[in-house]
Amino acid sequence: MDRRGTKRKMENVEVAEPRNKLPSPAPSMSTDPALYSGPFPFYRRPSELGCFSLDAQRQYHGDAQALRYYSPPPTNGQGPNFDLRDGYPDRYQPRDEEIREGLDHLLHWLLDHRGQLEGGPGWLAGAIVTWRGHLTKLLTTPYERQEGWQLAASRFQGTLYLSEVETPAARAQRLARPPLLRELMYMGYKFEQYMCADKPGSSPDPSGEVNTNVAFCSVLRSRLGSHPLLFSGEVDCTDPQAPSTQPPTCYVELKTSKEMHSPGQWRSFYRHKLLKWWAQSFLLGVPKVVAGFRNPEGFICSLKTFPTMEMFEYVRNDRDGWNPSVCMNFCAAFLSFAQNTVVQDDPRLVHLFSWEPGSPVTVSKHRDAPYAFLPTWYVEAVTQDLPSSPKTPSPKA
Ligand code: GDP
Ligand code: MG
Repeated sequence: MDRRGTKRKMENVEVAEPRNKLPSPAPSMSTDPALYSGPFPFYRRPSELGCFSLDAQRQYHGDAQALRYYSPPPTNGQGPNFDLRDGYPDRYQPRDEEIREGLDHLLHWLLDHRGQLEGGPGWLAGAIVTWRGHLTKLLTTPYERQEGWQLAASRFQGTLYLSEVETPAARAQRLARPPLLRELMYMGYKFEQYMCADKPGSSPDPSGEVNTNVAFCSVLRSRLGSHPLLFSGEVDCTDPQAPSTQPPTCYVELKTSKEMHSPGQWRSFYRHKLLKWWAQSFLLGVPKVVAGFRNPEGFICSLKTFPTMEMFEYVRNDRDGWNPSVCMNFCAAFLSFAQNTVVQDDPRLVHLFSWEPGSPVTVSKHRDAPYAFLPTWYVEAVTQDLPSSPKTPSPKA
């Protein structure tokens, strides 16, 4: 499908600047959902290439040490009664959000594994490398009415790297985050602690600390339309009882949400929250999201499993619902737009794609700080083992 779909979309690219003003045109791209309906594009079943873990000090380990095991409460009679506020703030070690990690951990993994990548020679040179979370934001863009985004893009040895930049508005909001919102963030992580065990057979231990430096990340290969993808996403846990033990199909995403009482509340949940849950889990191939619903006192009293592939059914007949085809077609069109815009191969050059709700995606060009994001250690290591690097004398020379 995608050939035709993408071409049609590229015709919507408008020249925003007068032609006589700039040496290169400054195109922009509409995010209107009406432009992206049509058949669902090709999306390759995501396959796991590897994984890595970040420890309590946010240090990288090339293994699954941070992976946790899905361990829901027994279903005998009464439901759960998880106090999500327990341990706040005394047993909370939040990650330092001032530290801009960019793609660094993913690049660490890639540096260690670039020699063993499947897909044949040159696969990586044709791929897009990014975080799953960045792709999630692209998927939901046609329906987003509140938060904009900025994505920095650099091409290096063919590969297009995409790394999010925190918008000034997002930074301001983060620095002014109300205490209640901080506690709500903690509660989401606390729910994971009630639902996960450290080892396959054992039970959750909610007595310990909640440390959000710790993360298990899966690294996957996929393709959207004509765009080969290598991306990584944080995974909450694996289900030892899953029908298939093969990742990512054994993975489970855990979420919390406010208890709902009226049909209107459920409708709004399907329209907004379920879209974000679907986009995040669909991209990585996570088959189910287990939701815990919290009451006003901060206790989880009920659980509900949402199979990722059934989420769209809740809005299929809703005029104000979302459509997976629109999400995926927009993402494919954006990736084509980015591929066509970032022509020069230069790790110090950044094309910054910016979007605010109600406006098209725009582009600006930058060199070095503060936008360049490919670290020197990565660029130098990859440059050194180019097959015909002029800097490296061949052993025979
Ligand atoms: P998600 O889908 O938004 O959860 O993001 P990913 O799964 O793509 O996570 C990519 C990396 O970003 C992981 O190392 C996460 O721990 C980290 N991460 C996820 N959300 C946030 C966030 O809100 N702030 C920061 N600084 N890092 C985050
Ligand atoms: Mg989660």
